[in-house]
Amino acid sequence: MAGLLKGFKTAKDKKTKRHLIALLLSEHDIEKTGLPQLKLDLMFVSHVTTSPSTFTSLVDKHDAACILIGVQSADNKHISYARKKHPCAFIIITHSRTCNNATARMEAVRDGANMITELDNADLQQALEMVSQLGKDVGPYVCPYCHTRDFTQKDLWIHCPLYHINVPNSVQRHRDNCCPICMNIQSLPMMVHIHDDHAPSKEPHFGRPKLYAFALVVCQRPSDDKFLLVQEFGSNGYFLPGGAVDHKEHLTTAAIRETKEEAGVDIDLTGVLAIHYAPSMHENYVRLFAIFVATPKDENQRPKTLPDFESAGAVWVSAEEIPSLKLRGDEPLVYINEKYCKGATVHPLSLFEF
Ligand SMILES: [Zn+2]
Ligand SMILES: [Zn+2]
Repeated sequence: MAGLLKGFKTAKDKKTKRHLIALLLSEHDIEKTGLPQLKLDLMFVSHVTTSPSTFTSLVDKHDAACILIGVQSADNKHISYARKKHPCAFIIITHSRTCNNATARMEAVRDGANMITELDNADLQQALEMVSQLGKDVGPYVCPYCHTRDFTQKDLWIHCPLYHINVPNSVQRHRDNCCPICMNIQSLPMMVHIHDDHAPSKEPHFGRPKLYAFALVVCQRPSDDKFLLVQEFGSNGYFLPGGAVDHKEHLTTAAIRETKEEAGVDIDLTGVLAIHYAPSMHENYVRLFAIFVATPKDENQRPKTLPDFESAGAVWVSAEEIPSLKLRGDEPLVYINEKYCKGATVHPLSLFEF
């Protein structure tokens, strides 16, 4: 692990030196980090010890930018002490048992740790390199969490999650929630806003897509095994009954309502044939289709024939007829002929939890 801190050798132009203080379990652990090989003209002056009392005096004496703690104490006293003395330092716990225990990880964060890892983990090297690089370039921005100054947009984007990902959203929301980059007041957590809207990448960021949900119905009449198809408006051809889910409506309710509106038939849903998720390649939306299986409540109820905004009417057709019909889309062929008629699994309605 020699050369763990190689990234630190790049910042000789920094005027004020920053200090790295490490408390490790043994000489062997110190070897592993490669810390003693660092020279004093590096960006970080490193101080490494295995003695808790020496650690305490180092923490008292130096303006620490980064602190490594590789020993565990029941009350996390080293972490708490380092955090109290250095509110803005990057504190890394390199103790294996803390790293791999769920409760201990949370307690270390509570007491002031920024990161919990292990000495032989490549993440440690990456974090040290990131911490050493931050602040090399001078920019106009102030961190909204710790108020450290002079960040570039790119550095702030790296610094915020690295140093502050554990700050509860509620704490951040209580502060002045003005973004330091765009100066807009944020309703989202600042971390989400900075991630989404101020990424350093030149790629345009589309944010989260809008989701449109649809319910479609494969409705079969038991007496002659025919399927209900809607004659769509604009002479577009035939299609499965169904449509877009309305505000505050469930998928199942939409399936029943749309079948009544478009086909004039009251149905009982009996299962779920498929769920199809379709991201749009060009625009910022996704569509989710739930395809239900149903039977008519009353086989003698006639399909709709009165044209209105919903459809021109509806009709019962055999599966064999479907390939010869003009269809608005492939869905009747896919879900009736290729799936349902070939014995595709019909899942229980309890698949959906409402
Ligand atoms: Zn900060
Ligand atoms: Zn902003």
